[in-house]
Amino acid sequence: VPASVVAVELIRIRLPLRKPFRTARGTTTRKDALLVHVVTDDTDGWAEVGAETSPTYAPETLDSARIALRDEFVPRLFSNVPLDGVRGNHAARAALTGAVLDAHLRCEGISLASYLGGTARHVEAGVAVGRHDRLAELLADVSACVAHGYRSIKLKIVPGEDVDIVGAVRAEVGTGIVLQADANGSYDLADADHLAALDAFDLACLEQPLAPDALADHARLAARLRTPIGLDETVTSPRVARDAIEIGACAVVSIKAALVGGLAEARRTHDVCVDAEVGARAGGMLDTGIGRAALVALASLPGFTVTGDLSASSRYYEHDVTVPFELHAGTLAVPTGAGLGVVPLPDMLARVTVAHERWRARD
Ligand code: MG
Repeated sequence: VPASVVAVELIRIRLPLRKPFRTARGTTTRKDALLVHVVTDDTDGWAEVGAETSPTYAPETLDSARIALRDEFVPRLFSNVPLDGVRGNHAARAALTGAVLDAHLRCEGISLASYLGGTARHVEAGVAVGRHDRLAELLADVSACVAHGYRSIKLKIVPGEDVDIVGAVRAEVGTGIVLQADANGSYDLADADHLAALDAFDLACLEQPLAPDALADHARLAARLRTPIGLDETVTSPRVARDAIEIGACAVVSIKAALVGGLAEARRTHDVCVDAEVGARAGGMLDTGIGRAALVALASLPGFTVTGDLSASSRYYEHDVTVPFELHAGTLAVPTGAGLGVVPLPDMLARVTVAHERWRARD
């Protein structure tokens, strides 16, 4: 497949977010994204780099991914040198291999979901609700999500905004809504007794309570809590997932192609979870429609038993770069068209593009 790639284009885009999104690690007010567009002899393919402008969630950034693509991955692709000779830079590698795969599947007329082994035609939607200055605002946001049809809500928590707000939200939504909490690594093992108070609220997952490299401490914490511990930032390969499960560090694995290095690795991580009978969830990055299409396709695999970060485009964007993903009875439809099943809308792409560069195979 790589031999037929004649050009690679990187397109930096910027979309306004409908409202700021706040986590333990910072506030996002606009979405900067990097799209990878590969052109082959027959067709083209698209992918989104799953990274942010700052290295606050993960070490890679959009700019570091751009440099890795320009200086390492794209030259390797053009000269048929294996991409896995590069260590790290997983978001960059995932995007380039994802775009090449999309082109290949468009050519073959196969949807990404069926290529990956997906079985679901719809996936349960879930929404991540960021931090708010006031509890009343948070409760209003959560209630609006429930009214909109979401049946699964993930709250962002941080020391000082945790047990009380989770309890208040549980009281607000009742027991019929799936609740998860994501700490983005903002606690220490010394907080174990405090975090155990979350056991009262029937969370489906407490995601990444401790630092990404605190593998054994997550196992110690998991032994103290009834709430299932999930790992997200920690999971940078199928092997890490296997080791984490083996030592009892998690009961749920959040899987992101950008963290594990591609959709093939994401599928292998999913298989690790299935073999170990541990729940998997599909992790999102406030993706535009391009990243969201890949995420929804991945989430259609049968092992994704814990609701992922799978919201409608309208949760974040007034106008997405693709045809928007819409909520139907609390679910999103898995795209059935070839490859991702969506492409950037040309007018919209032109409006949001802030920079682009392009390399040809024989430059
Ligand atoms: Mg997370």
